[in-house]
Amino acid sequence: MSDDRPHGEIPAEGFATRMVQVGRAPLRQHGFVNPPTHRGSTVLFPSSRAMRAAGPDGPITYGTQGGPTHQALAAAVAEIEGGTRALILSSGLAAIAVPMMAFLKAGDHCLVPDSAYGPSRRLADGLLRGWGIETTYYDPIVDERGMSELLRPNTRVVLTESPGSHTFELQDIPAIARAVHAAAAPDRPRARILMDNTWGIHHFQPFRHGVDVSIQALTKYVGGHADVLLGSVTVVDEADWVPIRNAYTALGQVAGADDCSLALRGLRTMATRLRAQGAAGLEIARWLETRPEVLRVLHPALPSHPQHALWQRDFTGTCSLFGVVLQPHYSEDDLYALIDGLHHFGIGASWGGYESLALATTGGITRTVPGERLGGPAFRLHIGLEDPADLRADLAAGLDRLPR
Ligand SMILES: *Cc1c(COP(=O)(O)O)cnc(C)c1O
Repeated sequence: MSDDRPHGEIPAEGFATRMVQVGRAPLRQHGFVNPPTHRGSTVLFPSSRAMRAAGPDGPITYGTQGGPTHQALAAAVAEIEGGTRALILSSGLAAIAVPMMAFLKAGDHCLVPDSAYGPSRRLADGLLRGWGIETTYYDPIVDERGMSELLRPNTRVVLTESPGSHTFELQDIPAIARAVHAAAAPDRPRARILMDNTWGIHHFQPFRHGVDVSIQALTKYVGGHADVLLGSVTVVDEADWVPIRNAYTALGQVAGADDCSLALRGLRTMATRLRAQGAAGLEIARWLETRPEVLRVLHPALPSHPQHALWQRDFTGTCSLFGVVLQPHYSEDDLYALIDGLHHFGIGASWGGYESLALATTGGITRTVPGERLGGPAFRLHIGLEDPADLRADLAAGLDRLPR
């Protein structure tokens, strides 16, 4: 704990221990275990002069900068991601939009993986295009050479997301970073590598692999209870911090302090939840692979995953979100009937909570880069904290109900 007691000399190594300790100092908070929730708009100063002197990185002057509760959560997120500074925003989507807007201006070019989270596409095709920013969608499994060919002199942002939303392709982030660094020129700013690291959480350490700006939807496993929307942007380089903080301030994208408290609460149990859910998810994914109704299971931790070698090289674990593709002779109606008949899986968006979810992928994704498609009706599963045997029995009954 960042308290004044002397046993601070033993540094915490394990992730679960660090998540218990980070962002709180009980003996400075009347001994209460959790940091207080500081709600607020107005921030008072002892004098007008003291207020005038407060700069952007000085004392907080107004609630839109976030308060101590935001800072506690930001410290925790920086710890999770291995970064130096983090910002907390009102949603995961805001955490994507703000750095994109921070680094892109009219006439710039942006690269977005074809497997990106849907609303990231909407941002690129809508607001960004309207502002004169051109986006090229690229094959997520691009190699170093392929990335070099995609980069233009005016490319300012390379968005990455690994694995891809719904389709779970893993990206070779170090290869992408090598290409971006090789294209750097002295007369213009280098493209920034942004990563949506929501799936990786702490299992992928973005800054060790060349990422400049890491984004997470804290809505997912950090919140962990489907009762909060929050996002984070983390950096290691001070030069990246300034434009992002300026865009955040300009857009007023502050989160609520109560939501930050909920996320801090979720964080304390996250390592244990992730371990249990990740293991249950992998067990169910392995079992689904043995079912004749299933064409493929899209889970990076399975040896059958096309980029499994990248997962082994770059990731230290897994969460419990993965895809399932049925044999091609099943119809979309068969898929919907399977999902709608499940007892223990909610039908809905988002993931990372304690409850299991099933979501039809087919019909819900946009791809524009030519290439292989999933090959059959597909759905996404999020495995929650229920007993895995109950989930498996539910899925088995659903598969058994499919027409012969
Ligand atoms: C959910 C999600 C987001 C957006 O998070 P919200 O808090 O729901 O806005 C962004 N990226 C990925 C990969 C997600 O799954």
